[in-house]
Amino acid sequence: MCRSGRMVTFTPSHLRTRIDMHAEVIAIGDELTSGQRLDTNSQWLSERLGELGIRVLYHTTVGDDMEANVRVFREAFDRADLVVCTGGLGPTADDLTRQALAEATGRSLFLDEASLAHIRQLFARRSREMPERNVIQAKFPEGSQPIPNPHGSAPGIDIQVDRDGRTPSRLFALPGVPAEMREMWEGTVSPVLAKLTSGRRVIRHRRIKCFGVGESDLEQMLPDLIERGRHPSVGITVHKATITLRVTAQAASEQGCLAAMEPTIETIRSCLGELVFGEEDDELQHAIVRLLRDRQERLTTIEWGPAGLLAQWLGEADPDGAVFAGGSVVRDAVSLAATLDESAGSLGLDDWGAVVSAMAQAIQKRYRSEHALSVGPFPSSDAIGTPGGQLHFALAGPADTVAKSVPFSGHPDILRERAVKQALNLLRLALLG
Ligand code: AMP
Ligand code: MG
Repeated sequence: MCRSGRMVTFTPSHLRTRIDMHAEVIAIGDELTSGQRLDTNSQWLSERLGELGIRVLYHTTVGDDMEANVRVFREAFDRADLVVCTGGLGPTADDLTRQALAEATGRSLFLDEASLAHIRQLFARRSREMPERNVIQAKFPEGSQPIPNPHGSAPGIDIQVDRDGRTPSRLFALPGVPAEMREMWEGTVSPVLAKLTSGRRVIRHRRIKCFGVGESDLEQMLPDLIERGRHPSVGITVHKATITLRVTAQAASEQGCLAAMEPTIETIRSCLGELVFGEEDDELQHAIVRLLRDRQERLTTIEWGPAGLLAQWLGEADPDGAVFAGGSVVRDAVSLAATLDESAGSLGLDDWGAVVSAMAQAIQKRYRSEHALSVGPFPSSDAIGTPGGQLHFALAGPADTVAKSVPFSGHPDILRERAVKQALNLLRLALLG
């Protein structure tokens, strides 16, 4: 039952399952820990592991430091059944992955002649002599397997570590260069894992997008969906006032996952009603473009505070211009007066509800659209005095004009996005009736 009292369906507990292989992804490099480069490898690898039904429980990022690398590897072997690391396989002094793996596992390094021949050949093809220090890239901890790197000089390492009374932990070390890492994943690692996990379960996600309340209010409207151990699991995240409910299921097949998620998604939709505006990569503007397309109606905009963001989002969501007929940006009282065909002196800038209503009506009339959205200036705008910490916006529709004011504060970086979303949501709810 929803907290509001409606009946909903639950997944019986005997259908709940456990994921039994835990993975850790390790990103290695000072450029990552210093913030100079974003670790995109871990994101990519985690998505691929998830598709194979392997749950990633840890992400670790570590700099180019021998002791730290050894410690990270030892911890990973202890807590993860599968470890995938990237970086540190280069020939230079700061590349420590193979040495750290040898130390963490207490094994010595052996020279793999086939790998050395491959590296020599790469240099020969570029008409260069292989520098002596590249020999290190052909060395591997005893008992490990090289992972071929068709286009690079850094082969990967496939190594297994025994654990007392438990299944061994297996680690795949890949180079940091994203293109090489992906090629080696597809060529070697993924097929190995697919075989290991064959007959096992796959994981799929669906994302339900919501707008209009805070995340704790939204959570209160749902039954205990977010409890741990539930299947399908439901997670909640907020990004710039948009709330995403992420539903995750595991089953023998993708269809099985989707079927397992369906009752949970129905529950979410029935409990949250019009707070839900879309799924997956949908944003509010996509929902609005769909609604207006169905009605064959058009929208225009006039915005002050957001400085064109409203028009930009609508333009992106409606590339052929079927729905979004145009927009104006005003930045001060003078440009507003010109848009309204008035003199700046005659604008009564003390009644902001009236101002944003006049803005919406003027633009609706000028572009002959069924709907027009206006957004007033931000409270921080001091060009004409602050409008008292409120954001004012209005919707002129076919029948009437509605103005709305909401308390408005927050970090300047997200004010524009929040303002535009509030305005778009006013229109969305009006279109839903
Ligand atoms: P390495 O294998 O450590 O020599 O890394 C080679 C290059 O790959 C680095 O200079 C980075 O530009 C890039 N790189 C390394 N790790 C990552 C990562 N986790 N995500 C994205 N790029 C990376
Ligand atoms: Mg590096």
